[in-house]
Amino acid sequence: MTDTALVLDGTGRIVALEPAGPPWDGWCALPAMVDGHSHAFHRLLTGLGERAAAAGSFWSWRALMYRAAARLTPEDLEAVATVAYEALRAGGYASVGEFHYLHRDAAGALSPAAARALARAAERVGVRLVLIPALYQRGGYGRAAEGAQERFLTPEIDPFLDYAAALPEAGRAVAVHSLRAVDPAVAADFVARARARFGADCRLHIHAAEQHSEVEEVRRHEGRGPLAVLDALGLLDPRTAVVHATHASAEERALLARRGARLVLCPQTEAYLGDGLFPLRSFQEEGGRWAIGSDANTRAGALDELRLLEYEARLVDGKRVRLDPGPGLARALWTRGAREGAHVLALPAGEIRPGCFADLLVLDPSETPWSAADPDVFLDACLLGDPGEALASLYVAGERRPPLAARDPVGWNAALARFRRLQEELAS
Ligand SMILES: [Zn+2]
Repeated sequence: MTDTALVLDGTGRIVALEPAGPPWDGWCALPAMVDGHSHAFHRLLTGLGERAAAAGSFWSWRALMYRAAARLTPEDLEAVATVAYEALRAGGYASVGEFHYLHRDAAGALSPAAARALARAAERVGVRLVLIPALYQRGGYGRAAEGAQERFLTPEIDPFLDYAAALPEAGRAVAVHSLRAVDPAVAADFVARARARFGADCRLHIHAAEQHSEVEEVRRHEGRGPLAVLDALGLLDPRTAVVHATHASAEERALLARRGARLVLCPQTEAYLGDGLFPLRSFQEEGGRWAIGSDANTRAGALDELRLLEYEARLVDGKRVRLDPGPGLARALWTRGAREGAHVLALPAGEIRPGCFADLLVLDPSETPWSAADPDVFLDACLLGDPGEALASLYVAGERRPPLAARDPVGWNAALARFRRLQEELAS
């Protein structure tokens, strides 16, 4: 839209769009991106998992991630999350869905301390946090949790829901970590009880079909793939967000699209972990809807995620312009990701319309080499080229969020120093 002023209420929600003239706050506004799937502490592992001992597979990388998970105190986690969320802010995200499973403290008790540390980090950076507490009950089919997994354990549902209810912004979404970590029948019971407690709109998030061996394990025990299992339990509907689904079968992908469940793709993490490629173009043709997640937060940029999605499709098909016919490829991918990201977090956000928070990314073409004569050409150049500082002005609920280093240099430097120290300790 052009030549428009936003009228906001006291909470930063848009109440009206009105015609207006200059002076402008900026040149062009997009709805700020919504991150459907983040693990803030994984950012600590960036650069540490590329040596032979951890480099082999997803599973060897996971051992490194478990080492980090086992040792982080709430103060450590706050520093790491501050660094991660600041990168997400700079990457165009106003809201973050944090898939949270660090439930137990060093003494083994269920504790909200880690979740509160994440909330403090988000508050400092100025992004909106939606915590998604994840049920986690075992190491795999027939295997007890061991080692660092014990920190994730939530063996009983009611105490876990009590704990979840006490977390900041409770009840928008809950998660079942995966069918590896939770028996399917228990997952269905958990979701029913969570909705009885938090309301029927409470979202369900779940990791599914990220790795071949995980799909095989589910098939061996259930006689079908993980998405088919979820569907048989009545858990595939528009309130469900399936994260990855990389190795779902064609039938399962069609089912996901048909049921209106959302897919959360994390393309940079799926590449980083060597998961594989999801056939997004055919999923879209079947009516499938998707959001993006920053997941491991190695490089936290919404444009980077969208660029990789489009490039993966080009490389697979040997053709250009795959995920939207254009003109306006970047605009189409961005608005799709923001809208569906808000949906999976049950947030009134992700679109510039009355009722939604005024979460905006205001672009400044003067900070790039690209011509802004045609906004769609400019946005496509930012998607495929280097956006430079064009994305610098992020607004959350109508308030501008400049870089944290400028607003709180002491807090930012303390977080960075702790982050680097933790990286050094993990590397040794
Ligand atoms: Zn994840």
